[in-house]
Amino acid sequence: MAHYDTVPGSPGAVDNAAAVGVLLELARVLHEHPPAQPVMLAFTANEEIGLVGAEALAAKRGNEIEFAIALDLIGGSGPLTLNGASTLIGRAELRWLADAAERAGVALSAPLPHRVISRWWPQAERSDHGPFTRRGIRAIHFYDRGQDGERIDLAYHSPRDVLARIDRASIDEIGRMLRALIAAPPPPHDGDGVWLGIVAPRWPLIAIELVLAAVALLALVPRRGPPARGWGLGAGIACYIVAAGLAFGVERLAAGDHPAPWLHAPLRPELAEAAILFGALGLLARLLARRAPWIGRRRYLAVAVATLLAFGGALLAVGAPELAWIWLVPAALAALAPRLGPFSPLGLIPTLLPAVLVLAPDQVREAAWNGFLPPSLPLAAWVAGLLVPPAAAAAWWVRGRMGLGPLGSLLLTLGCALAVPAGIVVISVTHSGCTAAEFHQFQLACEQARTWP
Ligand SMILES: [Zn+2]
Repeated sequence: MAHYDTVPGSPGAVDNAAAVGVLLELARVLHEHPPAQPVMLAFTANEEIGLVGAEALAAKRGNEIEFAIALDLIGGSGPLTLNGASTLIGRAELRWLADAAERAGVALSAPLPHRVISRWWPQAERSDHGPFTRRGIRAIHFYDRGQDGERIDLAYHSPRDVLARIDRASIDEIGRMLRALIAAPPPPHDGDGVWLGIVAPRWPLIAIELVLAAVALLALVPRRGPPARGWGLGAGIACYIVAAGLAFGVERLAAGDHPAPWLHAPLRPELAEAAILFGALGLLARLLARRAPWIGRRRYLAVAVATLLAFGGALLAVGAPELAWIWLVPAALAALAPRLGPFSPLGLIPTLLPAVLVLAPDQVREAAWNGFLPPSLPLAAWVAGLLVPPAAAAAWWVRGRMGLGPLGSLLLTLGCALAVPAGIVVISVTHSGCTAAEFHQFQLACEQARTWP
Protein backbone atom coordinates (compact mmCIF):
# COMPACT_ATOMS: atom_id res chain seq x y z
CA MET A 1 0.00 0.00 0.00
CA ALA A 2 1.04 3.60 -0.56
CA HIS A 3 -0.55 6.75 0.85
CA TYR A 4 -1.38 9.44 -1.70
CA ASP A 5 -1.71 12.45 0.59
CA THR A 6 0.98 14.89 1.64
CA VAL A 7 1.30 17.67 4.22
CA PRO A 8 0.30 21.28 3.45
CA GLY A 9 3.07 23.12 1.61
CA SER A 10 4.96 20.04 0.47
CA PRO A 11 4.72 18.62 -3.07
CA GLY A 12 5.33 15.21 -1.47
CA ALA A 13 7.53 13.61 -4.13
CA VAL A 14 9.50 11.19 -1.98
CA ASP A 15 6.72 11.24 0.63
CA ASN A 16 4.81 9.70 -1.06
CA ALA A 17 4.15 10.19 -4.81
CA ALA A 18 7.06 7.91 -5.76
CA ALA A 19 5.50 4.99 -3.86
CA VAL A 20 2.15 5.60 -5.58
CA GLY A 21 3.97 5.51 -8.92
CA VAL A 22 5.69 2.24 -7.99
CA LEU A 23 2.32 0.61 -7.21
CA LEU A 24 0.78 1.88 -10.46
CA GLU A 25 3.64 0.34 -12.42
CA LEU A 26 3.33 -2.85 -10.37
CA ALA A 27 -0.38 -2.98 -11.31
CA ARG A 28 0.59 -2.87 -14.99
CA VAL A 29 3.21 -5.61 -14.56
CA LEU A 30 0.85 -7.85 -12.55
CA HIS A 31 -1.82 -7.40 -15.23
CA GLU A 32 0.62 -8.74 -17.83
CA HIS A 33 2.02 -11.48 -15.58
CA PRO A 34 -0.74 -12.51 -13.15
CA PRO A 35 0.71 -13.64 -9.80
CA ALA A 36 0.12 -17.15 -8.41
CA GLN A 37 -1.12 -15.64 -5.14
CA PRO A 38 -3.76 -12.92 -4.80
CA VAL A 39 -2.16 -9.49 -4.40
CA MET A 40 -4.09 -6.41 -3.24
CA LEU A 41 -2.73 -2.99 -4.20
CA ALA A 42 -4.08 -0.27 -1.94
CA PHE A 43 -3.80 3.52 -2.16
CA THR A 44 -4.51 4.92 1.28
CA ALA A 45 -5.79 8.38 2.18
CA ASN A 46 -4.88 10.70 5.04
CA GLU A 47 -1.80 8.86 6.30
CA GLU A 48 -0.29 12.16 7.40
CA ILE A 49 -3.14 13.04 9.78
CA GLY A 50 -3.20 9.69 11.56
CA LEU A 51 -3.10 6.65 9.23
CA VAL A 52 -6.82 7.09 8.51
CA GLY A 53 -6.97 5.14 5.23
CA ALA A 54 -4.84 2.28 6.49
CA GLU A 55 -6.95 2.05 9.68
CA ALA A 56 -10.10 1.73 7.58
CA LEU A 57 -8.50 -0.84 5.27
CA ALA A 58 -7.21 -2.93 8.18
CA ALA A 59 -10.59 -2.75 9.95
CA LYS A 60 -12.69 -3.64 6.89
CA ARG A 61 -10.51 -6.10 5.00
CA GLY A 62 -7.78 -7.08 7.45
CA ASN A 63 -9.13 -10.63 7.64
CA GLU A 64 -8.32 -11.12 3.93
CA ILE A 65 -4.74 -9.92 4.32
CA GLU A 66 -1.96 -12.31 5.23
CA PHE A 67 0.93 -9.87 4.94
CA ALA A 68 0.80 -6.09 4.51
CA ILE A 69 3.62 -3.97 3.06
CA ALA A 70 3.63 -0.18 3.35
CA LEU A 71 5.74 1.91 0.97
CA ASP A 72 6.42 5.31 2.50
CA LEU A 73 9.39 7.62 1.73
CA ILE A 74 10.44 5.72 -1.36
CA GLY A 75 12.83 6.95 -4.03
CA GLY A 76 15.31 8.88 -1.91
CA SER A 77 18.97 7.94 -1.81
CA GLY A 78 20.45 5.56 0.74
CA PRO A 79 19.84 1.86 1.29
CA LEU A 80 16.40 0.27 1.00
CA THR A 81 15.44 -0.16 4.63
CA LEU A 82 13.15 -2.54 6.44
CA ASN A 83 11.17 -0.97 9.24
CA GLY A 84 8.27 -2.21 11.37
CA ALA A 85 9.57 -5.74 11.99
CA SER A 86 7.48 -6.40 15.08
CA THR A 87 7.41 -9.66 17.05
CA LEU A 88 4.98 -10.91 14.37
CA ILE A 89 7.93 -10.95 11.95
CA GLY A 90 9.87 -14.03 13.05
CA ARG A 91 12.60 -16.24 11.71
CA ALA A 92 10.63 -17.55 8.70
CA GLU A 93 9.50 -14.08 7.63
CA LEU A 94 13.01 -12.62 7.96
CA ARG A 95 14.40 -15.51 5.92
CA TRP A 96 11.68 -14.86 3.29
CA LEU A 97 12.63 -11.16 3.12
CA ALA A 98 16.37 -11.91 3.01
CA ASP A 99 15.89 -14.47 0.22
CA ALA A 100 13.77 -12.08 -1.82
CA ALA A 101 16.37 -9.32 -1.39
CA GLU A 102 19.07 -11.70 -2.60
CA ARG A 103 17.08 -12.77 -5.67
CA ALA A 104 16.30 -9.13 -6.42
CA GLY A 105 19.94 -8.09 -5.99
CA VAL A 106 18.98 -5.58 -3.31
CA ALA A 107 21.09 -4.82 -0.22
CA LEU A 108 18.23 -4.61 2.27
CA SER A 109 19.21 -3.01 5.56
CA ALA A 110 17.43 -3.49 8.88
CA PRO A 111 19.11 -1.07 11.32
CA LEU A 112 19.25 -2.01 14.97
CA PRO A 113 17.47 1.17 16.22
CA HIS A 114 14.53 0.36 13.90
CA ARG A 115 14.40 -3.20 15.19
CA VAL A 116 14.36 -1.89 18.74
CA ILE A 117 11.48 0.53 18.20
CA SER A 118 9.44 -1.89 16.05
CA ARG A 119 9.87 -4.71 18.49
CA TRP A 120 9.49 -3.04 21.88
CA TRP A 121 7.62 0.12 21.04
CA PRO A 122 5.37 -0.70 18.06
CA GLN A 123 2.80 1.89 19.14
CA ALA A 124 5.35 4.53 18.13
CA GLU A 125 5.24 3.38 14.48
CA ARG A 126 3.90 6.12 12.30
CA SER A 127 3.28 4.64 8.89
CA ASP A 128 0.51 2.60 7.23
CA HIS A 129 1.82 -0.77 8.46
CA GLY A 130 0.99 0.24 12.06
CA PRO A 131 -2.79 -0.43 12.00
CA PHE A 132 -2.11 -3.95 10.66
CA THR A 133 0.56 -4.79 13.22
CA ARG A 134 -1.72 -3.57 16.01
CA ARG A 135 -4.41 -6.00 14.81
CA GLY A 136 -1.98 -8.92 14.82
CA ILE A 137 -1.62 -8.95 11.00
CA ARG A 138 1.97 -9.32 9.85
CA ALA A 139 3.10 -6.03 8.30
CA ILE A 140 6.31 -4.19 7.40
CA HIS A 141 7.35 -0.83 6.01
CA PHE A 142 9.96 -0.21 3.31
CA TYR A 143 11.67 3.14 2.82
CA ASP A 144 14.90 4.62 1.51
CA ARG A 145 16.96 5.81 4.40
CA GLY A 146 18.60 9.19 4.17
CA GLN A 147 18.79 11.76 1.42
CA ASP A 148 21.58 13.74 3.02
CA GLY A 149 24.04 11.02 3.88
CA GLU A 150 23.10 11.28 7.51
CA ARG A 151 20.28 8.76 7.64
CA ILE A 152 17.75 11.55 7.71
CA ASP A 153 15.97 13.45 4.99
CA LEU A 154 15.98 17.15 5.80
CA ALA A 155 13.55 17.91 2.95
CA TYR A 156 10.92 15.63 4.52
CA HIS A 157 7.54 17.39 4.82
CA SER A 158 9.01 20.57 3.35
CA PRO A 159 8.52 22.53 0.08
CA ARG A 160 11.81 20.96 -1.01
CA ASP A 161 10.38 17.45 -1.40
CA VAL A 162 10.26 17.82 -5.20
CA LEU A 163 10.32 15.40 -8.14
CA ALA A 164 13.98 16.10 -8.95
CA ARG A 165 15.03 14.32 -5.75
CA ILE A 166 13.71 10.95 -6.85
CA ASP A 167 16.49 8.54 -7.60
CA ARG A 168 15.81 6.11 -10.44
CA ALA A 169 18.03 3.38 -8.98
CA SER A 170 16.06 3.43 -5.71
CA ILE A 171 12.77 3.06 -7.61
CA ASP A 172 14.23 0.11 -9.57
CA GLU A 173 15.33 -1.52 -6.31
CA ILE A 174 11.95 -1.42 -4.60
CA GLY A 175 10.31 -2.62 -7.83
CA ARG A 176 12.59 -5.66 -8.02
CA MET A 177 12.10 -6.32 -4.31
CA LEU A 178 8.29 -6.28 -4.56
CA ARG A 179 8.32 -8.61 -7.58
CA ALA A 180 10.62 -11.05 -5.75
CA LEU A 181 8.29 -11.03 -2.71
CA ILE A 182 5.21 -11.59 -4.87
CA ALA A 183 6.91 -14.53 -6.65
CA ALA A 184 7.20 -16.45 -3.34
CA PRO A 185 4.22 -16.21 -0.97
CA PRO A 186 4.93 -15.34 2.69
CA PRO A 187 5.73 -18.43 4.80
CA PRO A 188 3.78 -19.45 7.89
CA HIS A 189 5.07 -17.91 11.12
CA ASP A 190 7.76 -20.11 12.66
CA GLY A 191 9.33 -18.82 15.84
CA ASP A 192 11.19 -15.67 16.73
CA GLY A 193 14.23 -14.49 14.83
CA VAL A 194 16.86 -11.82 15.03
CA TRP A 195 18.22 -9.85 12.10
CA LEU A 196 21.97 -9.48 12.39
CA GLY A 197 22.96 -9.52 8.75
CA ILE A 198 22.12 -13.19 8.69
CA VAL A 199 18.82 -14.58 9.85
CA ALA A 200 19.51 -16.57 12.97
CA PRO A 201 17.53 -18.03 15.86
CA ARG A 202 17.79 -15.95 19.02
CA TRP A 203 18.65 -18.62 21.59
CA PRO A 204 22.45 -18.81 20.92
CA LEU A 205 22.67 -15.06 21.44
CA ILE A 206 20.71 -15.35 24.69
CA ALA A 207 22.92 -18.26 25.87
CA ILE A 208 26.15 -16.32 25.21
CA GLU A 209 24.77 -13.29 27.02
CA LEU A 210 23.78 -15.37 30.06
CA VAL A 211 27.39 -16.60 30.27
CA LEU A 212 28.67 -12.99 30.05
CA ALA A 213 26.25 -11.94 32.80
CA ALA A 214 27.37 -14.84 35.00
CA VAL A 215 31.06 -13.89 34.56
CA ALA A 216 30.26 -10.29 35.53
CA LEU A 217 28.13 -11.38 38.48
CA LEU A 218 30.87 -13.64 39.89
CA ALA A 219 33.25 -10.69 39.97
CA LEU A 220 30.80 -8.81 42.20
CA VAL A 221 30.84 -11.48 44.90
CA PRO A 222 32.70 -9.75 47.77
CA ARG A 223 36.14 -11.07 48.78
CA ARG A 224 37.29 -11.30 52.35
CA GLY A 225 39.50 -8.60 53.67
CA PRO A 226 39.62 -5.83 56.25
CA PRO A 227 36.55 -3.59 55.86
CA ALA A 228 37.39 -0.22 54.33
CA ARG A 229 36.52 2.75 56.51
CA GLY A 230 35.88 6.34 55.52
CA TRP A 231 33.90 8.11 52.84
CA GLY A 232 35.26 5.96 50.05
CA LEU A 233 32.73 5.46 47.30
CA GLY A 234 30.37 8.11 48.71
CA ALA A 235 33.00 10.80 48.05
CA GLY A 236 33.49 9.47 44.52
CA ILE A 237 29.77 9.62 43.76
CA ALA A 238 29.49 13.15 45.18
CA CYS A 239 32.40 14.29 42.97
CA TYR A 240 30.73 12.72 39.91
CA ILE A 241 27.42 14.51 40.56
CA VAL A 242 29.15 17.88 40.97
CA ALA A 243 31.19 17.31 37.76
CA ALA A 244 28.03 16.36 35.80
CA GLY A 245 26.30 19.47 37.17
CA LEU A 246 29.19 21.62 35.88
CA ALA A 247 28.88 20.07 32.38
CA PHE A 248 25.13 20.76 32.43
CA GLY A 249 25.64 24.37 33.55
CA VAL A 250 28.13 25.04 30.74
CA GLU A 251 25.76 23.45 28.21
CA ARG A 252 22.83 25.65 29.30
CA LEU A 253 24.88 28.86 29.41
CA ALA A 254 26.28 28.29 25.92
CA ALA A 255 22.89 27.29 24.46
CA GLY A 256 20.99 30.52 25.14
CA ASP A 257 17.40 30.25 23.85
CA HIS A 258 18.09 27.21 21.68
CA PRO A 259 16.75 24.07 23.40
CA ALA A 260 19.44 21.79 21.96
CA PRO A 261 22.08 23.38 19.70
CA TRP A 262 24.17 20.22 20.06
CA LEU A 263 21.68 18.35 17.84
CA HIS A 264 23.06 20.14 14.76
CA ALA A 265 26.56 18.67 15.19
CA PRO A 266 26.65 16.39 18.26
CA LEU A 267 30.24 15.11 18.26
CA ARG A 268 32.15 18.19 19.45
CA PRO A 269 29.76 19.08 22.32
CA GLU A 270 29.73 15.42 23.39
CA LEU A 271 33.54 15.26 23.57
CA ALA A 272 33.72 18.67 25.26
CA GLU A 273 31.23 17.68 27.95
CA ALA A 274 33.05 14.40 28.53
CA ALA A 275 36.28 16.40 28.97
CA ILE A 276 34.60 18.73 31.49
CA LEU A 277 33.13 15.75 33.34
CA PHE A 278 36.38 13.76 33.60
CA GLY A 279 38.52 16.84 34.26
CA ALA A 280 36.30 18.13 37.06
CA LEU A 281 36.01 14.64 38.51
CA GLY A 282 39.80 14.27 38.65
CA LEU A 283 40.33 17.72 40.19
CA LEU A 284 37.62 17.25 42.83
CA ALA A 285 39.01 13.85 43.72
CA ARG A 286 42.46 15.35 44.29
CA LEU A 287 41.02 18.20 46.36
CA LEU A 288 39.12 15.76 48.54
CA ALA A 289 41.92 13.21 48.69
CA ARG A 290 43.23 14.29 52.11
CA ARG A 291 39.92 14.64 53.89
CA ALA A 292 37.96 11.87 52.18
CA PRO A 293 40.25 9.46 50.37
CA TRP A 294 38.67 7.19 47.83
CA ILE A 295 39.34 4.03 49.74
CA GLY A 296 38.06 0.60 48.89
CA ARG A 297 39.50 0.41 45.41
CA ARG A 298 37.61 -2.68 44.31
CA ARG A 299 34.32 -0.90 44.91
CA TYR A 300 34.97 1.33 41.90
CA LEU A 301 35.37 -1.61 39.58
CA ALA A 302 32.27 -3.10 41.19
CA VAL A 303 30.32 0.08 40.35
CA ALA A 304 31.45 -0.16 36.71
CA VAL A 305 30.52 -3.84 36.44
CA ALA A 306 27.26 -3.48 38.40
CA THR A 307 25.90 -0.57 36.31
CA LEU A 308 26.73 -2.38 33.06
CA LEU A 309 25.27 -5.61 34.40
CA ALA A 310 22.09 -3.87 35.60
CA PHE A 311 21.42 -2.36 32.17
CA GLY A 312 22.37 -5.45 30.20
CA GLY A 313 20.52 -7.78 32.55
CA ALA A 314 17.36 -5.63 32.40
CA LEU A 315 17.44 -5.65 28.59
CA LEU A 316 17.92 -9.41 28.57
CA ALA A 317 15.03 -9.80 31.04
CA VAL A 318 12.61 -7.84 28.84
CA GLY A 319 13.62 -9.98 25.85
CA ALA A 320 16.03 -7.59 24.13
CA PRO A 321 19.19 -9.68 23.59
CA GLU A 322 19.89 -7.69 20.39
CA LEU A 323 20.76 -4.78 22.69
CA ALA A 324 21.88 -6.45 25.92
CA TRP A 325 25.32 -7.38 24.53
CA ILE A 326 26.26 -3.68 24.31
CA TRP A 327 26.31 -3.66 28.13
CA LEU A 328 27.08 -7.30 28.93
CA VAL A 329 30.28 -7.67 26.84
CA PRO A 330 31.99 -4.75 28.63
CA ALA A 331 30.58 -5.95 31.99
CA ALA A 332 32.28 -9.34 31.61
CA LEU A 333 35.54 -7.84 30.28
CA ALA A 334 35.72 -5.25 33.09
CA ALA A 335 35.05 -8.01 35.63
CA LEU A 336 38.05 -9.92 34.23
CA ALA A 337 40.32 -6.84 34.14
CA PRO A 338 42.04 -7.49 37.53
CA ARG A 339 43.20 -10.85 36.16
CA LEU A 340 44.80 -9.29 33.09
CA GLY A 341 47.75 -7.82 35.03
CA PRO A 342 49.53 -5.13 33.00
CA PHE A 343 46.92 -5.54 30.25
CA SER A 344 44.01 -4.63 32.53
CA PRO A 345 43.23 -1.41 30.54
CA LEU A 346 42.27 -3.69 27.63
CA GLY A 347 39.47 -5.02 29.80
CA LEU A 348 38.39 -1.50 30.79
CA ILE A 349 38.32 0.27 27.42
CA PRO A 350 35.15 -1.59 26.29
CA THR A 351 33.24 0.11 29.12
CA LEU A 352 33.05 3.02 26.65
CA LEU A 353 30.99 0.92 24.23
CA PRO A 354 27.48 1.98 25.37
CA ALA A 355 28.43 5.67 25.23
CA VAL A 356 30.09 5.31 21.81
CA LEU A 357 27.13 3.46 20.26
CA VAL A 358 24.29 5.43 21.85
CA LEU A 359 25.91 8.85 21.35
CA ALA A 360 27.21 8.23 17.79
CA PRO A 361 26.41 11.57 16.07
CA ASP A 362 24.34 10.09 13.21
CA GLN A 363 22.44 7.95 15.66
CA VAL A 364 21.63 10.90 17.95
CA ARG A 365 20.42 13.00 15.02
CA GLU A 366 18.30 10.21 13.57
CA ALA A 367 16.71 9.51 16.96
CA ALA A 368 15.90 13.21 17.37
CA TRP A 369 14.62 13.40 13.78
CA ASN A 370 12.22 10.52 14.39
CA GLY A 371 11.00 12.09 17.63
CA PHE A 372 12.59 9.56 19.99
CA LEU A 373 15.13 11.94 21.55
CA PRO A 374 13.37 15.03 22.90
CA PRO A 375 15.55 18.17 22.65
CA SER A 376 14.39 19.07 26.17
CA LEU A 377 16.63 16.33 27.62
CA PRO A 378 20.07 17.84 28.25
CA LEU A 379 23.07 16.31 26.50
CA ALA A 380 24.88 16.36 29.86
CA ALA A 381 22.37 13.84 31.23
CA TRP A 382 23.16 11.40 28.41
CA VAL A 383 26.90 11.94 28.67
CA ALA A 384 27.00 11.63 32.47
CA GLY A 385 24.68 8.62 32.55
CA LEU A 386 26.51 6.66 29.88
CA LEU A 387 29.99 7.50 31.21
CA VAL A 388 29.43 6.12 34.72
CA PRO A 389 31.03 2.73 33.88
CA PRO A 390 34.19 4.14 32.20
CA ALA A 391 34.58 6.75 34.96
CA ALA A 392 34.32 4.10 37.68
CA ALA A 393 36.67 1.80 35.76
CA ALA A 394 39.18 4.65 35.36
CA ALA A 395 38.95 5.39 39.11
CA TRP A 396 39.76 1.75 39.86
CA TRP A 397 42.75 1.82 37.53
CA VAL A 398 44.14 5.14 38.81
CA ARG A 399 43.69 4.05 42.43
CA GLY A 400 45.84 1.03 41.66
CA ARG A 401 48.63 3.22 40.29
CA MET A 402 49.76 4.96 43.48
CA GLY A 403 53.25 4.33 42.18
CA LEU A 404 52.76 6.87 39.39
CA GLY A 405 55.28 8.99 41.25
CA PRO A 406 55.13 12.75 41.75
CA LEU A 407 55.60 13.36 38.01
CA GLY A 408 52.70 11.03 37.11
CA SER A 409 50.40 12.64 39.68
CA LEU A 410 51.38 16.11 38.47
CA LEU A 411 50.67 15.19 34.83
CA LEU A 412 47.30 13.67 35.79
CA THR A 413 46.30 16.79 37.75
CA LEU A 414 47.56 19.08 35.00
CA GLY A 415 45.60 17.08 32.38
CA CYS A 416 42.41 17.38 34.42
CA ALA A 417 42.98 21.09 34.99
CA LEU A 418 43.39 21.64 31.24
CA ALA A 419 40.45 19.43 30.21
CA VAL A 420 37.84 21.58 32.00
CA PRO A 421 38.63 24.97 30.37
CA ALA A 422 39.27 23.26 27.03
CA GLY A 423 35.80 21.70 27.14
CA ILE A 424 34.20 25.02 28.14
CA VAL A 425 35.95 26.86 25.28
CA VAL A 426 34.92 24.23 22.70
CA ILE A 427 31.25 24.40 23.75
CA SER A 428 31.27 28.20 23.81
CA VAL A 429 32.79 28.66 20.35
CA THR A 430 30.80 25.90 18.62
CA HIS A 431 28.09 27.76 16.72
CA SER A 432 24.93 25.87 16.08
CA GLY A 433 23.48 25.45 12.60
CA CYS A 434 20.32 27.46 13.31
CA THR A 435 18.97 30.16 15.58
CA ALA A 436 16.55 29.22 18.34
CA ALA A 437 13.62 30.72 16.38
CA GLU A 438 14.52 28.73 13.25
CA PHE A 439 14.79 25.54 15.27
CA HIS A 440 11.42 26.12 16.93
CA GLN A 441 9.83 26.62 13.52
CA PHE A 442 11.49 23.86 11.47
CA GLN A 443 13.18 21.53 13.98
CA LEU A 444 16.27 19.97 12.32
CA ALA A 445 15.04 20.99 8.85
CA CYS A 446 16.12 24.52 9.81
CA GLU A 447 19.59 23.45 8.66
CA GLN A 448 18.23 23.31 5.14
CA ALA A 449 15.84 26.24 5.48
CA ARG A 450 18.93 28.46 5.61
CA THR A 451 20.05 27.53 2.12
CA TRP A 452 16.65 27.84 0.48
CA PRO A 453 16.56 30.07 -2.57
ZN1 LIG B 1 4.59 9.40 4.31
